[in-house]
Amino acid sequence: MKPHQMFDISRRRLLGTGAALGSLALAGCASTGASGPSIGRVVIVGGGFGGATAAHYLKMWGGNVDVTMVERNASFISCPISNLVIGGHKQMADISRGYDGLKALGVKVMQGDVVAVDPAAKKVRLANGTELGYDRLILSPGIDFMYDQVGGLQAAVDRGAVAHSWKAGPQTVALRKQLEAMPDGGVYLMSIPRVPYRCPPGPYERACMVASYFKTAKPKSKVLVYDANPEIQSKKALFEKAFQQHYAGILEYKGNSEIKEVSGTTAKFEFEDVKADVLNVIPPQRGGDLARTAGLLNMNNRWAGVNWLTMESTAVPGIHVLGDATFSAPAMPKSGHMANQHAKVAAAAIINLLKGEAPSATPVVMNTCYSFVTARDVIHVASVHQYDAVEKTFKTVPGSGGVSAAANQIEGRYALSWADNIWHDMLAA
Ligand SMILES: Cc1cc2nc3c(=O)[nH]c(=O)nc-3n(C[C@H](O)[C@H](O)[C@H](O)COP(=O)(O)OP(=O)(O)OC[C@H]3O[C@@H](n4cnc5c(N)ncnc54)[C@H](O)[C@@H]3O)c2cc1C
Repeated sequence: MKPHQMFDISRRRLLGTGAALGSLALAGCASTGASGPSIGRVVIVGGGFGGATAAHYLKMWGGNVDVTMVERNASFISCPISNLVIGGHKQMADISRGYDGLKALGVKVMQGDVVAVDPAAKKVRLANGTELGYDRLILSPGIDFMYDQVGGLQAAVDRGAVAHSWKAGPQTVALRKQLEAMPDGGVYLMSIPRVPYRCPPGPYERACMVASYFKTAKPKSKVLVYDANPEIQSKKALFEKAFQQHYAGILEYKGNSEIKEVSGTTAKFEFEDVKADVLNVIPPQRGGDLARTAGLLNMNNRWAGVNWLTMESTAVPGIHVLGDATFSAPAMPKSGHMANQHAKVAAAAIINLLKGEAPSATPVVMNTCYSFVTARDVIHVASVHQYDAVEKTFKTVPGSGGVSAAANQIEGRYALSWADNIWHDMLAA
């Protein structure tokens, strides 16, 4: 069976059942095995949602592809569920996983920082001088921050006065510690950048998690949410209801409030300065640094344009870009779930290309984002996106998605299962 045929089966099962990620992952279990000579070398930079999934599926679908994945961190730490750590409902160990599953499949996992890409010579260079040659390169570097858009922010983050916590790891721990150290009666202020940013519902979930912590541990404290956007960007009515139902008197939301400058822990907006005890600024974002230095951020100098049939860059041939770093198709969120789906499109297409076959012309991807509004009650938004050959982009399938009718605890269990499933789907463990 050819990889693109497997992908089509995944798609049919997916649409047929309307099920979440699990069905796609199960469809991928039809492995071709690792027999025969290598059909090519693929180097992957980034072991997050996009990169790790690509490594797993190249091995599972291609079998005899030589796959090397370079990741700067020793292990994977998930942004999804990290807001529960910030709220004190989960621990860092709950969102951390290793790469042993991928290694067991034959992926060469290297810890290191890729500092240069040479598309002409088809090789990448690591900070330690190691060079890796490739036939196809996958970059899933996530986001980096446009610190220059908020005065004083980079310095404040560098000296630990302000946390962004928009990459999981030490930043998650730092914000949790600041909240624990804050006296009852203190003010936590979160600043949200204009869209597009990674995980549209993420800031509003975080506001709920911090407010849920204050409600029980520091009831005189306040959560102030200053949003550069005019209104809540995802699951608006459901978040508004949660703010009112669970956190009235604790949480205040303000739209059209873009941060201009940070001074100490004072946030400066156009018309007011607000002194916070804990200042959590989510900075404006663009595709990761390596995508920029490799010349891939050809959309508004901010995101990487891709051919959606293969995820190959429209700027530099032979390099496939996944996840948050891409210039999103209409209504396509920057999410871990979507990065995982990009990876499957790319893995199938790369196997086809290495074999001299045409990639599938009809890919379909999907997304589900769960958000905790209390430690147990969850809301979701879901969508299915189908490739449109005329417009050469993914478009949402009419009537395919939607949001929860109301927050509920069953979805709380689904959300935790979703996380376990997608970590397994990425990391093969
Ligand atoms: C608080 C929060 C909550 C979220 N909740 C959800 C959710 O519930 N559901 C959901 O679907 N999404 C959620 N997301 C979004 C999700 O985390 C991202 O969309 C996803 O991580 C994107 O995957 P990626 O592969 O593009 O980037 P990442 O997962 O960030 O992976 C990039 C990796 O590349 C590595 N890297 C970068 N440059 C280099 C280099 N030069 N050399 C070596 N390694 C490098 C990084 O260390 C990183 O591990 C959330 C995000 C946040 C911040």
